[in-house]
Amino acid sequence: MRYLWACFVAITLYFPKTFAQKPAKPTSAEIHHELQKLNFLGTALYVAAHPDDENTSLISYLSNHKKARTIYLSLTRGDGGQNLIGPELQELLGVLRTQELLAARGVDGGEQRFTRANDFGFSKHPNETLKIWDKDKVLGDVVWAIRTLKPDIIINRFDHRTPGSTHGHHTSSAILSMEAFDLANNANAYPEQLEITSVWQPKKSFYNTSWWQYGSREAFDEADKSNMLHVDIGVYYPELGLSNNEIAALARSQHLCQGFGRLTERGTSEEYLELLKGDIPKGNDLFDGINTTWSRVEGGEAVGNILYAIEKNFDFKNPSKHIPDLVMAYGLLQKIKDEHWKQLKSEELKSIILACAGLYLEASSDGASTTPGSLAKVNIEALNRSSQNIFLKEIQIVGADAIIAPNKMLTDNGKQEFDISFTVPENTPYSSPYWLNEPGALGIYTVNDQKLIGQPETTSAFKVKFILDFNGTEIAFEQPVVHRFSRPEKGELYEPFAVLPEATSKIDEKVLIFADEKTKAIHVKIKAGKDNVNGNVALGHPTGWTVTPSNIPFSIVQKGQEQMVTFMVTPPNTESEGEISPIITIGNNTYGKELVEINYDHIPRQSILLPSKAKVVRMDIRKSGEHIGYIMGAGDMVPESLEQIGYQVHIIDPDKIEKGSLDKYDAVVVGIRAYNVVESLKFKQPILFDYVKNGGNMIVQYNTAGRWAAQFENIAPYDLILSSERVTDENSKVGIVSPQNSLVNFPNTISEKDFEGWIQERGLYFPTRWSQEFTPVLSMGDEGEPQSKGSLLVAPYGKGHYIYTGLSFFRELPAGVSGAYKLFANMLSVGKDEVKKESNVKG
Ligand SMILES: [Zn+2]
Repeated sequence: MRYLWACFVAITLYFPKTFAQKPAKPTSAEIHHELQKLNFLGTALYVAAHPDDENTSLISYLSNHKKARTIYLSLTRGDGGQNLIGPELQELLGVLRTQELLAARGVDGGEQRFTRANDFGFSKHPNETLKIWDKDKVLGDVVWAIRTLKPDIIINRFDHRTPGSTHGHHTSSAILSMEAFDLANNANAYPEQLEITSVWQPKKSFYNTSWWQYGSREAFDEADKSNMLHVDIGVYYPELGLSNNEIAALARSQHLCQGFGRLTERGTSEEYLELLKGDIPKGNDLFDGINTTWSRVEGGEAVGNILYAIEKNFDFKNPSKHIPDLVMAYGLLQKIKDEHWKQLKSEELKSIILACAGLYLEASSDGASTTPGSLAKVNIEALNRSSQNIFLKEIQIVGADAIIAPNKMLTDNGKQEFDISFTVPENTPYSSPYWLNEPGALGIYTVNDQKLIGQPETTSAFKVKFILDFNGTEIAFEQPVVHRFSRPEKGELYEPFAVLPEATSKIDEKVLIFADEKTKAIHVKIKAGKDNVNGNVALGHPTGWTVTPSNIPFSIVQKGQEQMVTFMVTPPNTESEGEISPIITIGNNTYGKELVEINYDHIPRQSILLPSKAKVVRMDIRKSGEHIGYIMGAGDMVPESLEQIGYQVHIIDPDKIEKGSLDKYDAVVVGIRAYNVVESLKFKQPILFDYVKNGGNMIVQYNTAGRWAAQFENIAPYDLILSSERVTDENSKVGIVSPQNSLVNFPNTISEKDFEGWIQERGLYFPTRWSQEFTPVLSMGDEGEPQSKGSLLVAPYGKGHYIYTGLSFFRELPAGVSGAYKLFANMLSVGKDEVKKESNVKG
């Protein structure tokens, strides 16, 4: 399997989908496969909302069987998902999932595009989604994708007619696809785009339906399919040695951070497509009625005549034999007026010429990164592995002022190497995902350059242009500058050549809570982007806060090394919040970015520059009790947050819970989804309830309803039925339904104001039924839905208290939401007003 995998990566990266993978080294059979794709002039656009929504089987079928240019337009980068392989979340998860999509497309032969839409979290309804995304802008981005990619057919993963039946992002992707289908050809819609591109009318639109849409396979078997076509996506490709579904599984297995590693599949398998717009195709051919030959382009027939003949008479033993004809076709292609096809097919044709000649062109930097103003060195390798006459005329570094003119014939298997040194221009942009350069809104990223919108990633800072002469026809080939190196335990590796600032800074804790007026020491790490960096760092802060000293000098000898400096930060004596941000000064320049690197084996290394900062919150918080026992569930940052406001948190090993072992804690808190993931916990419930009965305070955070119900019933000492009810609007109004209850009075008074500034959602998996011993404290609901009272429930049990809450404290506390801290402190203090009034501490 490993062998096949290695083979396959070679072919599909033949037209590199991402700029820092290993170079493709295609076989004759793979070149022939690409020739067939060169001779198919048809485009399919697949539309859905998230990385992993896409049907990789259908994408692979269109790309490898139909030979169509196939693009997956994922409206978002999947920023709001979970990460099973590392710490990256939100925008950093979006960067990781972008690269996983590019890796998947590298396998299935598709291409990848996006819109500016941000995956802001779960959404119940497309109305909410489209409001938060800014429908007009995201619709414009879909129109832009259609106008620039010019697809003949569009396929929606989701049904635009069933809002509310799936994630609001899903239905929205289909709604926007349908609207954009009609708008792309309308010159009055988004006219500013037409200064760069032209209107376009796709011919057909489909919904990629499935039996599960019908409830069961039996129901689907009986459904009317007169408006559907079906294709066998189980086809086998002898040239690749793989079945289509084997390729699809390999592609899907690239979504590692979502845990999508899959077994491969083989054999016949039907896929159904319901026609939404256009005429029903004949014979289950998605491209029926669409001219997909070279004759669709004015002047294309002459090019096609040459290329069809090469495809038909391809010499698998000596592909270089076809170079003179391929070069002739390239020359004719340059005379075509249609810029869209000329550009697209020129690039494909150039890659085939390169492959047929066994021509190896590489530009590798001597380091993984550089800084503006520094001297960079690039090693060039140029090698012709054919008997064809290929003359190397010139080599240019694109993006810098560097050029050499070897004027040498590249003889068969005679390697040519050159070193080119150049100064990195001061205005070279940093290598960071372009959509993170400007602050965005909750639902949409800010991208000011229209041409960048939709692009999967920031392209390489430098490219090398090789100007080659093939018996009188000059062709320019561009290769990105990469960094090639080896590791004894991994072999040869490639990574992007990054342009980074001279210095970056980082505060490890992203939120710092000041529960009193005491001064805290804040550590700032400074990292050098080059050798011998000397400067000063100051700490920007909100008014009313004091920072000493005002400036700290630093000196770092070696590139990549870090130095830590410490500031003393004192908050004001009243409530206040804001940001602290390190500002580095080197000579006349200032630097305020943090460098985050994402490095996994299945994607190229990513360098991301984000504003260097931390949130500081001075809250006037009262609390009772000190020692908190915490039982970790699926993982959350609540213990660290509680420590920030002065609690001593002790992590409890569930296996070591025994009679009496919990009595020392003022409260025991159960982490998110603990009963879903910690098998042994259900056996410890009697001990936990005894702890409560004897005066303890037990707080259980959200668990998911599905698995719970099947496992056991004693999540609480009284009846409590969990549901999948959630309130996703983080700004939804919160009512206090039990104003006398201790949870909203002691030691902190809670008002509606404490529910301002929450992030992502209010809460999830609220109970819908509970026994009369429970008191509901709050009410809340999303727009147009009934008010739920299940978000925070408290019941006395023996001498103690049991609390169940689905409120999203695991999100709000790490984000420094003041009201959430106060409410949590009240939960930890419940019952303490009756027994230990004297021991209340302020601060
Ligand atoms: Zn999805």
